Amino acid sequence: MRLFDTHAHFTDKSDVDGLLSRAAEAGVVRILAVGGSRELNRNALRTPCPIALGWDRDQLDAGDAAFAELERLVADNAQRVAAIGEIGIDFHYSPESASAQMDLFARELSFADRLGLPVVIHTREADAATLEVIDAVPWSHASRLRGVIHSYTGGPDFAGKLLDRGFAISFSGIVTFRSADLVRASARFVPDDRILVETDTPYLAPVPLRGHQCEPAYVIHTAKCIASERKTDFETFAELTFGNSERLFSR
Ligand SMILES: [Zn+2]
Repeated sequence: MRLFDTHAHFTDKSDVDGLLSRAAEAGVVRILAVGGSRELNRNALRTPCPIALGWDRDQLDAGDAAFAELERLVADNAQRVAAIGEIGIDFHYSPESASAQMDLFARELSFADRLGLPVVIHTREADAATLEVIDAVPWSHASRLRGVIHSYTGGPDFAGKLLDRGFAISFSGIVTFRSADLVRASARFVPDDRILVETDTPYLAPVPLRGHQCEPAYVIHTAKCIASERKTDFETFAELTFGNSERLFSR
């Protein structure tokens, strides 16, 4: 049994060795270490994992110099950079900066397109705006269909629109939460070749570990929950999501 945690953040305080060894013991043999700020980008680089680097929706002052810096980081670590991320928009926490978030998101999508890398996208309470930005990108590269919507919190309807645009959908511990019926409906809806699992470490620990600081080893609980929702056995589902993740994030 192999699992791939497609979304974990490491901070200045993370005990990287401990997190990775507990993950390996739990069968989580691959982790995408995801950036989004200077601290997260720096700490993703501190791991031996494949990484995503980017400027997330709260880095609104990221201008030309920040993008030049990002391009240098990507070039210097070309062997390990598997994606640009995380990037995206969130109107739940920061509705006041909607247009600035959309501008930054558009710029990162074009940046990833130019480099031929897939994207790791966060979107929350911003369905229409997310599609608007994605649809407006003047895609130049065949990679336009490569990317994942991470920690998906929407319903099957929005998931269908994202699938139509070629994206994969990744589910975090939220899918195990009692109130998350809509997210579970989406986890049943996404087809076998587009579904991924993640922890979003250090956030969103799944049931039965809610309240603990999340870590990659915990992705097993999320995968078990979804396997049972999809009425498939856990091992088959684990292998399926591992293969999907490898395909998306291989260079
Ligand atoms: Zn994240």
